[in-house]
Amino acid sequence: MKRVFLLIISVIAILISVSGCTQKKNIQNTNGKITITATIFPPYDFVRAIAGDRVNLTMLLPPASESHSFEPTPKDIITIQNSDIFIYVGGESDEWVNRILESMDTRTMTIISLMDIVEAVEEEIVEGMEVEEEEEVAYDEHVWTSPQNAVRIVQAITETLCKVDAVNADLYRQNGAHYIAELRDLDTAFQAVVDNANRNTIVFGDRFPFRYFADRYGLSYFAAFPGCSTETEPSAGTVAFLIDKIKHERIPVVFHIELGNERMADTIAEETGAEKLLLHACHNISKKDFENGVTYVDLMRQNVENLRKALQ
Ligand SMILES: [Zn+2]
Repeated sequence: MKRVFLLIISVIAILISVSGCTQKKNIQNTNGKITITATIFPPYDFVRAIAGDRVNLTMLLPPASESHSFEPTPKDIITIQNSDIFIYVGGESDEWVNRILESMDTRTMTIISLMDIVEAVEEEIVEGMEVEEEEEVAYDEHVWTSPQNAVRIVQAITETLCKVDAVNADLYRQNGAHYIAELRDLDTAFQAVVDNANRNTIVFGDRFPFRYFADRYGLSYFAAFPGCSTETEPSAGTVAFLIDKIKHERIPVVFHIELGNERMADTIAEETGAEKLLLHACHNISKKDFENGVTYVDLMRQNVENLRKALQ
């Protein structure tokens, strides 16, 4: 009896020490993980979907902040320097990236620019848009707004992850394939909305960062400003033009984008009776959404519903 008791005690002791070891080993594993830094939300979210907790992942842009005016802190620069993989967009808003990368030893770093993965197109100025006179037309950086582009980006990130961290390659390929299937479903859902719609024109009482999205689904659009405009106060003429378009074509929805000033869209909604809805461009997400683990696919699924209403 006593022997059995002693045996049980020693088994428990072994179990405790084993679990102690496991804990220690996990901590070591954390240090052994590769480190990935993404500048903004979409590539951050893509890496999270492909790699889960197998990597140390950082989003530089603080949740809820404006992506176009982002300036890195000294801490951000150290974060980039310590990355095995660094992912940025590569447009006008990322001019600071080139300056920083030039000053760094990047030999051990793999650098991905989203605009190098997909075919970038220039920002488009459509009728009624306000443009600053000296403003040059630049390549549109919002490449991720088309789910088809997101598929290419996820493929490229998956391949890079498999090369840099071959030990986990099988998992990355499996997760990447699963995520690509979700993105293709999303693309099909948007296409179905457009195929069954009564109209193909959308109106934004806001900036318009959806060039790639509109191209993909053959949508035409009117908006107050191009995608990366820093302007937020439209002229009376611009607002009147958009109100007129909505009234004339009986458009049921006026869109605004995320984390911005919705006053213009409010005014247009009041004047026309159109419903004000969000089309989320996914530059960044709110603190609450970030904490709740909201994904690109979640935001885009809401866009499918809001687009459906807008094309009625
Ligand atoms: Zn933008």
